[in-house]
Amino acid sequence: MQIAFIGLGNMGAPMAANLAKAGHSVIGFDTAGTTAEGVTNAATAPEAVAGADVVITMLPNGAILRAVAEQVIPAMKPGAVLVDCSTVDVDSARAVAEQAQAAGLKAVDAPVSGGTGGAINGTLTFMAGGTTEAFQIAKPLFDIMGQKAVHCGDSGAGQAAKICNNMILGVTMIATCEAFALADKLGLDRQKMFDVVSTSSGYSWTMNAYCPAPGVGPTSPADNGYKPGFAAELMLKDLRLSQQAAESADADTPMGQLAAALYTQFVETEDGKGMDFSAMLPRFEKRGRG
Ligand code: NAD
Repeated sequence: MQIAFIGLGNMGAPMAANLAKAGHSVIGFDTAGTTAEGVTNAATAPEAVAGADVVITMLPNGAILRAVAEQVIPAMKPGAVLVDCSTVDVDSARAVAEQAQAAGLKAVDAPVSGGTGGAINGTLTFMAGGTTEAFQIAKPLFDIMGQKAVHCGDSGAGQAAKICNNMILGVTMIATCEAFALADKLGLDRQKMFDVVSTSSGYSWTMNAYCPAPGVGPTSPADNGYKPGFAAELMLKDLRLSQQAAESADADTPMGQLAAALYTQFVETEDGKGMDFSAMLPRFEKRGRG
């Protein structure tokens, strides 16, 4: 397949390199001039997409996605598929898909979970929205870049699944961290706390697979000075997207709202920027009720 890849950042570069390694012809473009192994760079985004069967975007946010879509949709060949793997708001995902379909193209929103490790190792999970036909065309590429691809429904369904998942993740991480901080103050040993909770009804991915307490549970960013991993500001971005979606769908999400407020405080007025999102534990440790 002839593939164009727009946005060769921390995630996009290794994903594009994996497609090239699997034998696809990949032309890339990034405004920062970054490149990826096995990928030929084009001078502009429209030049990269001309002649491509599939155009993949991996960009920072919905506004940038909309701007890139304006540029590339008119330059894509009829019947080609636009696959956006960025995490963006549901409204932008739907608007870009409609614009692509109106121009005779197919579109899939396919945000990922698995982080940079998953991108490098080709073990991402894709959550996809769009027609079955468009999903089937993109599926072999998801199978190269990842280990699982779920077709969640129509356009926007992939982004909906992603932000709902990450809203649970943010809320659960806060709950896990505040419980550890409470356990500390009650004089409970952290290893004992882990041994009980990880095999009791409080278990979760944040406790069992990504434990925020250093030296406890499997190796996680907590064991590396809370270097990300998954940065607190990216968690905040996803929590804000979840609350934007909740506003627009009139959904009551009080825990998601509180998690967004706590991560805002952590990133913007405390020392959370640049830290892993599990650094909520040292934050709670230092605080009292007041
Ligand atoms: P990044 O900032 O490393 O990469 C984004 C790239 O897009 C940059 O290289 C930037 O130069 C490029 N770019 C910006 N505007 C452009 C334009 N107009 N045209 C072409 N290129 C442009 O970010 P990332 O970590 O690779 O994340 C990309 C997306 O994936 C985000 O939406 C993020 O939320 C999502 N995501 C990231 C992770 C993670 O762990 N990093 C995990 C899951 C999802």
